[in-house]
Amino acid sequence: MSLTLDDLRVRTLGDCEYDSPFAEMLSTKRTSPHYVAEDDRVLVDDTVSVLLSHGVPIDRVPSFETAGPRKKIYFDPARTTVGIVTCGGLCPGLNDVIRGIVQELTEHYHVKRILGFRNGYQGLSKDSRHTTMELSLDRVRDINNAGGTILGSSRGAQDPEEMVDTLLIHEIDVLFVIGGDGSMRGATALTEVIDARKLDIAVVGVPKTIDNDLPYTDQSFGFQTAFARATDFIQSVFIESQAAENGVGIVKLMGRHSGFIACYAALSVNDADFVLIPEVPFGLEGDDGLLCRVERHLREHGQVVLVVAEGAGQHLLEASETKDKSGNAKLGDIGLFLKERITTKLSEVGLEPTVRYLDPSYAIRSVPANAYDSVYCVRLAHAAVHAGMAGRTQTVVVRWRRRFVHVPMALITGHRNEIDPDGDLWMSVLEATGQPANIGR
Ligand code: ATP
Ligand code: MG
Repeated sequence: MSLTLDDLRVRTLGDCEYDSPFAEMLSTKRTSPHYVAEDDRVLVDDTVSVLLSHGVPIDRVPSFETAGPRKKIYFDPARTTVGIVTCGGLCPGLNDVIRGIVQELTEHYHVKRILGFRNGYQGLSKDSRHTTMELSLDRVRDINNAGGTILGSSRGAQDPEEMVDTLLIHEIDVLFVIGGDGSMRGATALTEVIDARKLDIAVVGVPKTIDNDLPYTDQSFGFQTAFARATDFIQSVFIESQAAENGVGIVKLMGRHSGFIACYAALSVNDADFVLIPEVPFGLEGDDGLLCRVERHLREHGQVVLVVAEGAGQHLLEASETKDKSGNAKLGDIGLFLKERITTKLSEVGLEPTVRYLDPSYAIRSVPANAYDSVYCVRLAHAAVHAGMAGRTQTVVVRWRRRFVHVPMALITGHRNEIDPDGDLWMSVLEATGQPANIGR
């Protein structure tokens, strides 16, 4: 996709006229380097060839607005009420982001009030709008030591007009939405109603995806914790399959459209013999199909371990018409399907297998963030607060090329980050597993 500088322009509610309370903290220096300079922009591309291909001067090349504290802000903190909502599936680090936002708003901006909406967008619906949670420093202390989200989450459509009514009833000036692609589409719908009614409410997103399939993001928060936890399960089936006669271990990991967790976890343990991801289709039948390859591997090594992303091999399954509450298509269960087909195949050729199958998705999603992700989450939270207080709206904060930047919401939901089958990550997986580039295709 070819972007222009205009595509990357983030929206603001208006001119920033209030002095940032950060001045107090940074007052020892007359011109603090900590404030963001408007001409400090982060390039989208980083190779000379791509930069030259734009054919425009360097200040017209696509670049992101840098996140961080501004000298002047849009909202008067003493009169600002902030809302926070978490939506979609669980991901390690949600509580760290909530705590980070509350701390920053309380300790540095001294805002009037912070309200948490309960159970995702459902908490903004007419029926649930009274069930808010007051978010004070005391309320959020230690919450990052637990997984999940203290605010709860949900799927399913809510009426954006009703949700904006809720924001008005609670006098919300800035709403922080922590959630996935669906949540960001929901947040965009909110901003459309806010615009239509000419309201002065900022909506800032902190994008979440455990699958690491977020575009324009070095790595999404919670991903590192997730793949680290996933390694435990690969290790378990490796040990189980090693101890059994004709041992077969299969672990199904998250990754509806992108196999990052499967690849990183497999590389980390380095005991997987086959890694199957959505981006690389494979076939079962024939001499070079998965079933014969598993059989040969078992005959040679006495055990075999497969790591499969939940979105892999969907072309082998009957298309499902079912959808979840948010309208996302439900995937067929590739893990159980492979377990059955491999068991049948090996039994037919006289290798009665001992199959150990694990589907640990909930055990991975629900853990607290590790040290790395906790640092990342708190810094994302700070960036989100600075963006919101400076009146940025329809905007998300992400980390790109090791800097925190502002990205228009529409860009984040426009496409997904996927593993390039010709790229170096997939090459590393092929090198580590020894599996061929094409399986049965
Ligand atoms: P994940 O997929 O990582 O679990 P998500 O944010 O994509 O997270 P969803 O359940 O798809 O999770 O969406 C979260 C919320 O956003 C739901 O309440 C859903 O109704 C709402 N939503 C999703 N898509 C849209 C849309 N196009 N317009 C308005 N609201 C949406
Ligand atoms: Mg989603």
